Amino acid sequence: MEPQGYFMSVLAALDDYDPNSMPVEQARLLIRKFLAAPLEQESINLSDALRRTLAEDVLSPMNVPPHDYSAMDGYAMRHADLENAPCKLKIAGSAFAGHAYTGRIGEGECVRIMTGSLISGGCDCVVMQEDVKVDGATVEIAGGHRPGENIRLAGEDIACGATVLARGQAIRPAEMGLLASLGFSRIAVYRKLKVALLSTGDELQQPGSPLAAGRIYDSNRYTLMGMLGELGVEVIDMGAVRDDRPSLKAALLDAAGQADAIISSGGVSVGEADYVKQLLDEIGEVVFWKIAMKPGKPLAYGKIGASHFFGLPGNPVAVMVTFQQFVRDALCVLMGQQPRPVPEFQVASAERIRKIPGRTEFQRGILSHDENGRLIVRTTGGQGSGILSSMSKANCFIVLPAAQGNVEAGSVVQVQPFLL
Ligand code: AMP
Ligand code: MG
Repeated sequence: MEPQGYFMSVLAALDDYDPNSMPVEQARLLIRKFLAAPLEQESINLSDALRRTLAEDVLSPMNVPPHDYSAMDGYAMRHADLENAPCKLKIAGSAFAGHAYTGRIGEGECVRIMTGSLISGGCDCVVMQEDVKVDGATVEIAGGHRPGENIRLAGEDIACGATVLARGQAIRPAEMGLLASLGFSRIAVYRKLKVALLSTGDELQQPGSPLAAGRIYDSNRYTLMGMLGELGVEVIDMGAVRDDRPSLKAALLDAAGQADAIISSGGVSVGEADYVKQLLDEIGEVVFWKIAMKPGKPLAYGKIGASHFFGLPGNPVAVMVTFQQFVRDALCVLMGQQPRPVPEFQVASAERIRKIPGRTEFQRGILSHDENGRLIVRTTGGQGSGILSSMSKANCFIVLPAAQGNVEAGSVVQVQPFLL
């Protein structure tokens, strides 16, 4: 295959470019090179902001906390009055969260104070209630306290004007709360990424009616809807398309006219009814279409018009693996975010794992603890790329590098936990 158009310069610079068997890491880097600049912005209500992406840096308009607060239940006083401790101080009043002490304390006085109450009245030290002896309207305090003790100072968490969140930050529950804590009710975000979704195959039937002979239910569109839903993109559901070249061509052109990215499943290998790659060659540009991985060997990536095209394999497990290994990060970049790679770590395999050198394998694994409390991993059993229940049982991928052969029980393997 000759790379065409604007891909040419990038691809020509790669001396080991092989679109027929792309190593996993190279495929990731290559996709990154083609991802376009961020999208237009819009202003939305904070309550609608979950899973959106900040389009501007957020600077704190205030100190957090806004004033000096007590971090403990206890007694607030002027530290200078503890000079001759142990000493007795007279309780001049009290302060609760939301109800500050409004007076000024005199010499030898203190204020009963609760956690979260404003420090006021000239106090500069809070002694926790466990450290005082109360006797009617006076408290007895031992020595050894320092100025500022048990006081959260204004601006201690966030100073007014400091950058709290950077442009490109995904808005998760913590960011929702953080933005609310700073008083924001509207925020600038990138518009939602539009992703067109379609299945291919004459054998596909939609769930909801008894399965006809020789058919299978279209499950891929539902796993993809789920994974896209978690990312917070706008899904344009184009349904299932037959294995018919003109229909598929029309569907892909229609999708490219409306969406920032297109995701198809099936029809991407080299069977007689597999038109996806041929069509991508005809109406778009192909960057690669086979990756040295298992499952997920046929995976086409390219562009149709301005739209990024991901032609995922048909096998249900391969769909989830390729989405999670390539498409998720790519869509994050298109959404204006930095990719957030899933943290990987190493753990002992509880069992022997069969593996033939040559391709990177993403086996479905279950992380658990052995009788000594040590983390171990085992596979979910059968690793056929059609066994979707393996993805449901698994809580991680066991990532076996291309060069790796069989893994003996007790040896260490790399795992990538599922975050959701
Ligand atoms: P293909 O790459 O089109 O040959 O598909 C590979 C395998 O995945 C075949 O067994 C297909 O029946 C199956 N498959 C393709 N699309 C879907 C889908 N949408 N849902 C479930 N299985 C599918
Ligand atoms: Mg097919």
